[in-house]
Amino acid sequence: MKTINDQILQLKKDKNAVILSHNYQRAEVQDIADFVGDSLELSQKASKTSAAVIVFCGVHFMAETASILNPDKTVLLPDAGAGCPMANMITAEQLRQKKAEYPNATVVTYINSSAAVKAESDYCCTSANGVKVVSSINAEEIIFVPDQYLGSFIQKKTGKKMILWPGYCPTHVKILPEDILRRKKEYPNAKVVVHPECRPDVIDLADEALSTSGILRYAARPEVKELIVGTEVEILHRLNKENPGKKFIPASTKAVCPNMKKITLEKVLEALVTMAPVVKVPEEIRIKAFACVDRMLKIG
Ligand code: SF4
Repeated sequence: MKTINDQILQLKKDKNAVILSHNYQRAEVQDIADFVGDSLELSQKASKTSAAVIVFCGVHFMAETASILNPDKTVLLPDAGAGCPMANMITAEQLRQKKAEYPNATVVTYINSSAAVKAESDYCCTSANGVKVVSSINAEEIIFVPDQYLGSFIQKKTGKKMILWPGYCPTHVKILPEDILRRKKEYPNAKVVVHPECRPDVIDLADEALSTSGILRYAARPEVKELIVGTEVEILHRLNKENPGKKFIPASTKAVCPNMKKITLEKVLEALVTMAPVVKVPEEIRIKAFACVDRMLKIG
C-alpha cells in the first residue's frame, strides 16, 4: 500500500504537475511541495514553470494569480473554499467608485485581492516589494487597497500621499502590542520581527517589519539566535527546519489563518486524481489583471 505522499508524488509525475505552497500552509503540505515561499516568490515561480498543471496550496487569490500568469495551464486549488477574508474586503465595483472620487490617483493593489480588483488597478505589490513598487511611482496620490496596515507602513517608508482602503487581515490583527511586550519580557535577548499586515502599534515595537521571505532571510543571519516572530504561526516550521539550534517564538499562538489550513494532503491527492477544483480567470479580466501583475514583476 503506497503512502499518501508516494501517491501524490507519482500523480505529480504522471500529470506533469508542480506543487507550490505558501509559507503558512500545514507543515506536511509544505514538505511535499516543490517550492515553498511567499506571494511574490510563488507568483515568480508560477510565471516561469514549464509544468502543465499547477497545484496551488494557498488561498484563492494566489491560485488566481497563477492563472493570470499561466492562461494555458491548469491551476488547481485543492479546497475551493480556501479564500482570504482580506481580499474579500473590496470588490471591483467599490474600487471603481473610489477611482471616481480620485480620478488622478494611481491605484496600487496588494496581491491579496481578487483578479477583478487587480483588473481595475495600475500596479500590484506584495509585502516583500510594496515599498519598492510605490517608490517607483511618480504620482500625486495613490489609492492603496485593500490592507490599511500594509498601506500605512508603505506610506511611512515612502512619504507618498496615499488613500488607504480600510481592509485588514483578521489573522494578523490578533497579534497585539501586549503580546510583543510579554514575549520581550520572557525573552529579553530576542530580536522581534513582524509582518507589515500587523497593526502599526505592533510594528512600532518590532526591530523590523518584513514579508515572510524577509523574515526567513533575517532569521538566517548569524547574529540572530532568538527571534520573536509576529506572523502566521506555521512559518515556524520553515524557520526551525532551516535554522537548527536557533530559537523561534511565536508572538501570539492565536495568529492562525483558518483558510490556509483548509488544504490537506488528502485534498492535494484528490485534486490530482480529479483535476479539480480548477481556478480559471475569465480572459477579459485576465488581460487587464495581467498588466497590473506584470508591472510589479518587472519592478521586482
Ligand atoms: S493570513 Fe490573512 S491575508 Fe493571509 S490569507 Fe489568511 S486572512 Fe488572508
